[in-house]
Amino acid sequence: MSNVVIGLTGGIGSGKTTVANLFAELGITIVDADIIAREVVAPGTIGLKQIQQQFGNGILTADGELNRPQLRELIFEQPTAREWLNGLLHPLIRTEMLKQCKAAPSPYALMVVPLLFENKLESLVDATLVVDVPPATQLSRTTSRDGVSEQQVQNIINSQISREQRLARADRVIENQGDIAQLRQQVALLHHGYLELVATKPKL
Ligand code: ADP
Repeated sequence: MSNVVIGLTGGIGSGKTTVANLFAELGITIVDADIIAREVVAPGTIGLKQIQQQFGNGILTADGELNRPQLRELIFEQPTAREWLNGLLHPLIRTEMLKQCKAAPSPYALMVVPLLFENKLESLVDATLVVDVPPATQLSRTTSRDGVSEQQVQNIINSQISREQRLARADRVIENQGDIAQLRQQVALLHHGYLELVATKPKL
């Protein structure tokens, strides 16, 4: 049972997944908001049932899964549908993330939340860790990872909190301009710091 949660965030292509994998190598449990966002609408969940009741069976694929492109289109066209959906999903996602963090067997849990600051989720975590690279690196790494255009990545960068604001809110920053060996060294140092935090935080 861990009662310390570190919130890992950063812009698109900054290296969140890469950093999370390095913490996982040290035995730390990773709780990923994007994965949980899919879990809470998997077939058989209350989440999917409610979406089906709200938008009709047409929102499901032939296999009974959520038809994501269709849902995206629907909430793009109807702001009230988007609000309804967020009202349903955000509490489900929060609850599940906290549950998985509490159940983590590691001394602390690492919660990966790309939009931690944008969605005002700082209260879920004990400390924030920001992965930082300049926008040019975000662009080059994301275009080669996803095979998308620079403009598409730039649009996503523009929709996220600015680099300056993100850094201003960070408790700790991990700099990812160097190679993986340099990243691993920073992760090791942070890990030791977090173990100290665990030792000093009163048990619930
Ligand atoms: P995020 O999860 O924040 O979107 P990723 O961890 O997927 O970012 O990293 C984006 C891309 O950049 C991936 O293809 C990853 O392998 C690569 N990458 C991450 N860190 C480095 C690094 N230090 N050097 C070179 N490539 C990196």
